[in-house]
Amino acid sequence: MQEETSYGIGNVLNAAYARHRDNVAGAPADYIPELAAVDPNRFGIAVATVDGALHKIGDADYPFTIQSISKAFVYCLALELIGRDAVLERVGVEPSGDAFNAIVFDPHTNRAFNPMVNAGAITVAGIIHDVAGAGAFDFILERLSDAAGHRLEMDEAVYRSEAETGHRNRAIGHLLRNVGALKGNVDDVVDLYFRQCSILVTASDLARMGATLAHVGENPVTGRQVFDLMAVRNTLAVMFTCGMYDYSGNWAYDVGVPAKSGVGGGIVGVVNRQLGIGSFSPRLDAKGNSVRGIAAFKDIGDELGLHLFDCS
Ligand code: GLU
Repeated sequence: MQEETSYGIGNVLNAAYARHRDNVAGAPADYIPELAAVDPNRFGIAVATVDGALHKIGDADYPFTIQSISKAFVYCLALELIGRDAVLERVGVEPSGDAFNAIVFDPHTNRAFNPMVNAGAITVAGIIHDVAGAGAFDFILERLSDAAGHRLEMDEAVYRSEAETGHRNRAIGHLLRNVGALKGNVDDVVDLYFRQCSILVTASDLARMGATLAHVGENPVTGRQVFDLMAVRNTLAVMFTCGMYDYSGNWAYDVGVPAKSGVGGGIVGVVNRQLGIGSFSPRLDAKGNSVRGIAAFKDIGDELGLHLFDCS
């Protein structure tokens, strides 16, 4: 594994880290005590390229829960398992402009707007559960581990806390069952969703997982084909339009790469065929995105010319 600063990426990371290290704006998520207890000063960034290099700075190997970032990867798995058309029958791909936990469905389809909001992600968890049953979580954990390139673990305390307090997500699950987007036992599906959100990752893991998507589903280090080719394309499209909560339009405008963030403070970004970026900083803005994560992505994107529609 190469950890050097080729292509000047290391210098760009160092500069972004130094520029934003002292920014203390925002606050960690506090909807469960475990997340509020995180050290808010942690800050790490990592970039993994499709040739297998990893560049990192700060707390890039500090573990935190993946939370909503899991939604992108699990959507990719659902597309592979039952195919694009069957997935589209259960969950749409339209940005909602609503908060991640909004209790609102697309009035035209009576389905969740997209897989990046909770209603869509719980639907997607339902798809995995339909196919894999009791083995669903192991299946998700194994594939996400393959994407990261090593075995990931779940944070039991965060999972228990999510499960004890997640009544809004249970309510969403029952509404989805009511409109036919979920089948079977709602509690089992929502439990699977809580577990997938509680998987521990680091910024380096996110960079590697992003690089696996960038490398059309093949982990650049292990050479393992983790995700299906077409599933990756469809997943990146939804990440681009819906991945950053109700900031997704601004993100596409300013940063211009497919990305997904989570309330644990992580962000994963994907530059197709080139690299994955992972960041971790727990202080969030009002929309639930990591303040320093966004700032760092903007800098790194500008410096390396990563915007999809960059003309320079
Ligand atoms: N487990 C969280 C929830 O569904 C994930 C939230 C997020 O990262 O957006 O409430």
